[in-house]
This record gives sequence, structure tokens and C-alpha cells, in this order.
Amino acid sequence: MKGTPSMGRRQKKTHIRCRRCGNNSFNYKRKVCVQCGFGKSSKLRSYKWMWKAGY
Ligand SMILES: [Zn+2]
Repeated sequence: MKGTPSMGRRQKKTHIRCRRCGNNSFNYKRKVCVQCGFGKSSKLRSYKWMWKAGY
């Protein structure tokens, strides 16, 4: 049983391609992009903990 035996259950499509950031992170059910926050806020999603190095 090596590999991905449960791949057959991955039929549900929760994230589709986001219109704004282009990532496959737009939650179809919640209508919110988990990557950039599209649908939730008009601004790009950003958190303080993302600033880490460089800022
Ligand atoms: Zn996005």
C-alpha cells in the first residue's frame, strides 16, 4: 500500500482557480480565496505573521 490509495475520494472540488491571484485557492463553497482573500475583502490578504523576513 504505497503511494496514494485514497486518491479516488478526491472528487470534491473545494478550491478553484482564483480570478485575482491566479492560484488554485478560491474556495468554491465559501466564495473566498484562501491565498489572497478575494471575496472576503477588497484588499489583498496580508497578515503580520507573513512579514517575517525582509520587513
Ligand atoms: Zn486569490
